[in-house]
Amino acid sequence: MDMKPNEGRLQTAEHILAKIIESKINDALVGVCKFKEDSGILEIITQTDLRELNLNELQDGVSKIIRKELPVHKIVKPRDEAEKEVNLRKVPDFVKEIRIVEIESFDKRPCIDPHVENTNQIGKFVILNLERVGNNRYRFIFRVE
Ligand SMILES: [Zn+2]
Repeated sequence: MDMKPNEGRLQTAEHILAKIIESKINDALVGVCKFKEDSGILEIITQTDLRELNLNELQDGVSKIIRKELPVHKIVKPRDEAEKEVNLRKVPDFVKEIRIVEIESFDKRPCIDPHVENTNQIGKFVILNLERVGNNRYRFIFRVE
């Protein structure tokens, strides 16, 4: 693998993980996302106790999407058009041009981070840890290999 983790692999894996959690947990909201050299952090806000989730199953769910070799598109749209397609909750009002990252036929969300061109570039996805970090707040730590 020639790409470094910071060139979009972790970031794209994060979108997949977030989407799968959102599809399982009705009230899940994405909180803080952070990326280091070799790992990523995704915080989810929900009233559901995520510690009851089966992490192996979640990891397999992400891996399944990675193996589908889905193209990843980045599209910039005016805010009023973008808001019809994606949730702009985390995008400040002054941002008028929205960059949407679309994992074809799977997920769309606004994001300005770098992402890979195809999910097959992500590599092996591993969840390292999940902990409760506050009231209704859970933190996943993951990496790609
Ligand atoms: Zn992103």
